Amino acid sequence: KKLGIALVGLGGYAGGQLAPALQQAQYCYLAGIVTGTPSKAVEWSKKYNISQKNIYNYQNFDEIKNNPDIDIVYVVLPVALHKEFTIRAAQAGKHVICEKPMALNARDCEEMIAACKKANRMLSIGYRLHFEPHNMEVMRLGQQKVLGKITSMDNGNGFKYGGDPNAWRLKKALAGGGGLMDMGIYAIQGARYTTGMEPLKVRARQEKTNPELFKEVDETVFWELQFPGGLVTTGKSSYNNNWGYLRAKAERGSFELEPAYGYGGIAGKRSDGPLLFPQINQQQAQMDDFAQCVMNNKPTRVPGEEGLKDMRVIDAIYRSLDNSGNWETIG
Ligand code: NAD
Repeated sequence: KKLGIALVGLGGYAGGQLAPALQQAQYCYLAGIVTGTPSKAVEWSKKYNISQKNIYNYQNFDEIKNNPDIDIVYVVLPVALHKEFTIRAAQAGKHVICEKPMALNARDCEEMIAACKKANRMLSIGYRLHFEPHNMEVMRLGQQKVLGKITSMDNGNGFKYGGDPNAWRLKKALAGGGGLMDMGIYAIQGARYTTGMEPLKVRARQEKTNPELFKEVDETVFWELQFPGGLVTTGKSSYNNNWGYLRAKAERGSFELEPAYGYGGIAGKRSDGPLLFPQINQQQAQMDDFAQCVMNNKPTRVPGEEGLKDMRVIDAIYRSLDNSGNWETIG
């Protein structure tokens, strides 16, 4: 049996990646959609053969409670709406996948986790790289100290924003922040899953070369994370630079990925040889894994708590930017 997934928000990621991945999935399928745009409902129902009774809008969404075709709700909306729809989905009795960044801040993440727990539903964050073979190898190399302990690390992620100057991504109220929230989160995660440790403190600074376009949100941010034992790693995020790498030095060698975080192909090497792993459909792997977790009642490797940990780091980076680059405690 395949579990039914309903996508909430039919934008670029839902249409470009998630819906096609669901056509290939083994344990779940695209059973429903939630959209505020009636023309998209018509288009999607034809394209993906979605039954009329499984189509909702943002107002009548709570009726999904009475729909046994839908097991999992996948929230793919602008960040500011993640909390509301995650909580409404859990209260409607559905398991939830919520896209990254999980919410506007760590406090909202905590509320989402509590609501899902109370409703006895599973919550997962759309962290597809935890299912991507090169990134999984980096987790193994770092966490199992295959080349010894990590001694330094530098990660960067960003792209040159060339889109609509009025898009939600540039509005603080809808996005919560800019390149840091959207892209930097991968570089922060990279440091966490490579070292296998949680950072204690962070300090950060930022650069704005286009203050008009990035009036409300951060453009480029640089940070240092301090880990238990004294390791300090560096990272950066941007809406004005095409970055996408993870680089680690360890006691007996080094390893790196570039491109590290996208879904258009991942590549990497270690100092003693290449990293030869297959390219996979990350979204399919991520959703199939969650469907199996739900079916077998076993915990997901990317629960709400994982989203919360990244948001705690991001909150502390914004505090440091507000406090002239001071070291801030994470948590
Ligand atoms: P998008 O702008 O393409 O789509 C957003 C959708 O939300 C649109 O269909 C829009 O109509 C709808 N929407 C509903 N209410 C809205 C409102 N008040 N304002 C604006 N739009 C509203 O964005 P996207 O790129 O699909 O991103 C959606 C989510 O997916 C974000 O959280 C983003 O970070 C995440 N995402 C994740 C990945 C990944 O690799 N995991 C990749 C891209 C996007």
